[in-house]
Amino acid sequence: MTILPVIPISPDKPDAVITRRRPSMPPRHLADLDLDARKAAVAALGEPTFRAKQLSTHYFGRFVRDASAMTDLPAASRDRITADLLPTLLTPIREQDCDDGATRKTLWKLHDGALVESVLMGYSNRVTACVSSQAGCGMACPFCATGQQGLTRNLSVAEIVDQCVYLAGVAASGVVTGSPPRLSRVVFMGMGEPLANYPRVIEAVRRLTTPAPEGLGLSQRHITVSTVGLVPAMRRLIAEQLSVTLALSLHAPDDDLRDELVPVNQRWKVAEVLDAAFDYAAQTGRRVSIEYALIRDVNDQPWRADLLGRLLHGKLAHVNLIPLNPTPGSKWDASPKPVEREFVRRLLAAGVETTVRDTRGREIDGACGQLAAGELTQAGADGVAADAEVAQ
Ligand code: SAH
Repeated sequence: MTILPVIPISPDKPDAVITRRRPSMPPRHLADLDLDARKAAVAALGEPTFRAKQLSTHYFGRFVRDASAMTDLPAASRDRITADLLPTLLTPIREQDCDDGATRKTLWKLHDGALVESVLMGYSNRVTACVSSQAGCGMACPFCATGQQGLTRNLSVAEIVDQCVYLAGVAASGVVTGSPPRLSRVVFMGMGEPLANYPRVIEAVRRLTTPAPEGLGLSQRHITVSTVGLVPAMRRLIAEQLSVTLALSLHAPDDDLRDELVPVNQRWKVAEVLDAAFDYAAQTGRRVSIEYALIRDVNDQPWRADLLGRLLHGKLAHVNLIPLNPTPGSKWDASPKPVEREFVRRLLAAGVETTVRDTRGREIDGACGQLAAGELTQAGADGVAADAEVAQ
């Protein structure tokens, strides 16, 4: 283990320090493996191969993540299996809910101390998990809280899947008010840029959409991968022939502004990124979702609505406007409602289907772009200090 420079826990405990480990990928986990690889792994432990299916049924079918609760396993096997196939990947540090229990945010500590968040959102007909694909994010969008942190590291396949399995268990327990007791959708709109962690995200999508007990059995159409527009990775995604929904975070229809709001635009321009999105739609027959955070006096002018309307007219695309969530210290704010309504009106007039995203989770900083575990930790250092390594 490598110890990085120490940082104080809190101003009122100046002598106490947290030692942080260098970011590192976690140990292997059942959810990293397909069923054949699980059989090989249990055989290597000296266990009968049927154990692979037994473990998979517990994990993916019943959302049991802890071998000690798998009471049909011999006690000796449980320890071996825990050590080799079910290491703890995610430790919940804080859970918060709002919207009368319909939105719940979980802050997780990973094995190396990195922090990520997931949000569970219940609706009358569905339950959606918003999951993280990276700790932090390297895309540096200036209006996004995670973008301000920089990238800590990619998550492993199992770290992504385990968020979903945990949240599937929460949904199944029936605590999500007014919703069916079943996780039905996963959106990669938590922390990180999913296409910058491409192979692991694709593998996670496969695990989430393979029928139980090998996987979680969600429909590919109910998985949304959201991207800043990494064109080569979008093209690779087209070639996978998956039918997941693609969301493109456009935020501006012109290169001048998009270069600033989504810095990766300096590399792949609006025209190129839209081409890739339209090709994805043509290949899959699935409408792409164009995400557009409306920022007061920045990207909400009528002429920008008209330009966006011209770019999307006649395409298999719809616009999802997101009222900006101002992040701490941000100079930007959401557009006033009349401006938002005019923006919508112009897009509709151009024949472009448009929705305005609901503002779930705002009270608990669980809404779009607010997931920034680093900042949350500063505010709640006690929770972290409790199980960080503390030296006096
Ligand atoms: N990296 C991926 C997933 C990020 S989060 C992507 O950029 O698509 C999902 C969405 O929330 C993105 O469209 C992102 O631009 C948006 N978002 C980020 N910060 C926001 C904020 N402060 N207010 C509103 N939307 C925000």
